[in-house]
Parts: sequence; structure tokens; C-alpha cells
Amino acid sequence: MPELPEVETIARGLRQGLRGRQIRDLFIFRPEIINGSPARYQTGITGKTVTNVWRRGKLLILDLDEKLHLVFHLKMTGRVWIATAETRPDAHTHISFLLDNESQIFFQDQRRFGYSILFTPEGLRQWDFFAMLGPEPLEIDSKEFTEIFCHRRASIKSLLLNQHCLAGVGNIYADESLFLAGIHPACPACDVGKTGYQRLHLALRTVLQKALDAGGSSIRDYRNAAGKPGAFQNQFQVYGKKGQPCPRCCRALETIKVAGRTSTFCATCQVGPSVCS
Ligand SMILES: [Zn+2]
Repeated sequence: MPELPEVETIARGLRQGLRGRQIRDLFIFRPEIINGSPARYQTGITGKTVTNVWRRGKLLILDLDEKLHLVFHLKMTGRVWIATAETRPDAHTHISFLLDNESQIFFQDQRRFGYSILFTPEGLRQWDFFAMLGPEPLEIDSKEFTEIFCHRRASIKSLLLNQHCLAGVGNIYADESLFLAGIHPACPACDVGKTGYQRLHLALRTVLQKALDAGGSSIRDYRNAAGKPGAFQNQFQVYGKKGQPCPRCCRALETIKVAGRTSTFCATCQVGPSVCS
């Protein structure tokens, strides 16, 4: 699933290519991918100009003139990218937007968990999913970060994944930052301790920034706004590396389920739930 660095990379690429471009027309091949009325979606977007592209959590948002917000949730396998005029939509292209320079925006999604919604500013503010998003991890300091978690009893990994606590972090960057900070994924949040949170805050910022610099991580499907993969998967320390040696101590990496998600960790380097401090 595209997480903060992937969606941010897509937003940056789209912003460069789309600002000031008019959407002349759109073709909806699979109306059920639209949350709300497809007819209103179609008439609302046709003829509008893209004024900005941004990200909030894992949401990709295109601002259109007349104060409309075109929102995409990419979920597992969604992609939004700029295709040339000659590119033919494939079986996974659910919407294509035709631009005034003849290029196109494709919204593709193989697994079809993703969706798109058109909002007024008020509608976006009142949308529960949007309104409930926690702060952006790259926009808060260590003290604010600690305050989110330190009184909770749930495991730190489950809270890192909880979009109401923190927006944009998923399985990859939770596992990578917990490893870097030396914290066991199942450690109760209230036992991580002040110095643990300082390490985790720094670790999360570091892995997110490195992933942004690498253009995101491509495990299977993620592609940027130009349809190209990211490269941060080549820098993973633990994610998806069960059985491989820990990069720090060489012990074989293990997995456990935390909050229903597979978590890869080192049992030596990541302090367990009973001894967190
Ligand atoms: Zn280790």
C-alpha cells in the first residue's frame, strides 16, 4: 500500500505536470470506483483547471478551480499518473482524465480497493475519514509525538499504523523505524519511555525522509506520477526480510503479528514488551 513517501512522491510529480492544466474531459470506465454520484463527478470536473496537488496522510488531493477537491485513496494497488496522448487505457484503468495538452491522467487500480471522491471545501472538512486524521509525522516535534502515544496501552506498532494517531504511516515505515529505534513492535506504547520516543521520532523522520529522497518504495505496484518505480525498497533493513540476518547483530530476523499485520523485527536489537524503558 502506498504510504506517506509514495503518495508524497506522486503528489510532487503531479504538481509539476498538472498545475494550470485544464481537464477537458474524463472517461469513467468503472463507475463503482467513484464514491458518490458518477454523473456529478463527471460534470463537476469537466472543464476545471488543476490549481494544486497535495497529500494528507495517504490521500492524494488535486485542487481544482471553483474550490473543488478531487481526492484519491490509492489503498493497496492504486496509481495516479500522467500518460501520453498515445497511451491506451488498460483493463485496470478505471478513470482517464483528458488534459488540454492532450496528455492524460490515469487512475488505475488492479485490486480495486482504491476510490475517488469530489468534494467542496466544506464537504472535505466534514468527511469523517479526513477530519479524523492524526498529525503529519514530519510536521510535529518530539514532544508532540510522545504525547500522542505515551499514555496508551496498545502496542506501539498498532498505534503507529492507526491513522487517527498519526497520518501516513503504514507497515513498511513502522517496521523500519521501530528497528532503527530499537523498539519491539509489540511493546505497549506506555512502556516505550521518553528516550524511546525521542529515538522513535528521529527514526521515523529519518526513514520517511530517506524514502522521499529515493522516490518511495516499490514492492509490487507502486509507481510515481511518471509511471516509474521508487528505489527505497533497496534500503530496507528489516521489512519483508524474515530469516535474513539482522543488519546490526546478524541474528535471523523474525516476524510476529501485531494488530493483524506481519511485523519483521530483530529479537536481540529490538527491546521486548517486558523490558522497554
Ligand atoms: Zn539485531
